[in-house]
Amino acid sequence: MRKPFIAGNWKMYCTKPEATKLASGLAASIGSLEEIDVALCPPYTALETVHNVIAGTRLRLGAQDLAWEKEGAFTGEVSALMLIDVGCEFVIIGHSERRQFFGETDQSVNRKLKAAISGGLDPIMCVGETLPERESGSTLDVIRRQLDGGLTGIACEKLTIAYEPVWAIGTGRVATPEQAQDVHAFIRGWLNHAYGPAAGGIRIQYGGSVKPDNVAGLMVQPDIDGALVGGASLKIESFSDIVRGSTKRK
Ligand code: PEP
Repeated sequence: MRKPFIAGNWKMYCTKPEATKLASGLAASIGSLEEIDVALCPPYTALETVHNVIAGTRLRLGAQDLAWEKEGAFTGEVSALMLIDVGCEFVIIGHSERRQFFGETDQSVNRKLKAAISGGLDPIMCVGETLPERESGSTLDVIRRQLDGGLTGIACEKLTIAYEPVWAIGTGRVATPEQAQDVHAFIRGWLNHAYGPAAGGIRIQYGGSVKPDNVAGLMVQPDIDGALVGGASLKIESFSDIVRGSTKRK
C-alpha cells in the first residue's frame, strides 16, 4: 500500500512575506498529519524562508526545477546541492510549463532526473499530453515516449511520477477519475515492466485542476496515489482541504 503524497506547486507566486503566511497557515492546519506525505514547492527565492517556517512539522520542501550540472559557469541555474543546502527533499522535473515555455525535452528531463537522484533529491517527474494529442488518440503514445526518454538509465527508488494532462492544468477542466485512472494504469504497467517488483513503491500523482471537491473521486482510483496541485495550493483552506480529502482513500 503506497502512502498518499500531495505536493503543492506554487509556480511563480509568493514573495517571502506571502510565502511565510501561506506556509505558517499550512503548518498549523496540516503540519502534523501522519497518514499522508505533503510537500510544498515554492519558487527558489522563498525556499529557505519556507524551510524555516515548516521546520519541526511533517511538511516537506521541494523545488520546481534544477540544473542538470553539479556546478559551474551556468548563469541563472540552481544545482541539486544548492537545493539540498536550503532544505529541499523533492524536486519537480519536466513540468509541462517548462516543456512548453522553456524548451524542456525528454532528454533534458532525463539529465535533470539523473542530477536530482545523484544529488540526493527525490524527483517528481511530470508527464502528460496536450489537448490535440488527446483528441487525436495519441495520449498513451505520448506518455510512453516521455517515460522511455525521461527514465532511460534511471533507478526507480524514490521516484514519483505526476500525470498531468496539459489541457487540465490551470484550466478548471479536470480529467474524469476514469480518464485519469486509464493513464495511471498504463503508467503503472510501464513501471512494472521496466522495474519489476521494485516499481510497487513508486507513487503516481494526478495533476490538473485538482480541487477540494474533486480530489476524493480521484483518490479512490486504484492507481492514483496522490496529487500535484497548482492553483489550489496557494490558499491555506483549499490546499488543506485537498490534503485532508486525500486521506480518505480506497
Ligand atoms: C500544476 O501546476 O502542476 C497544476 C496541476 O496546476 P493546477 O492545479 O492549477 O491545474
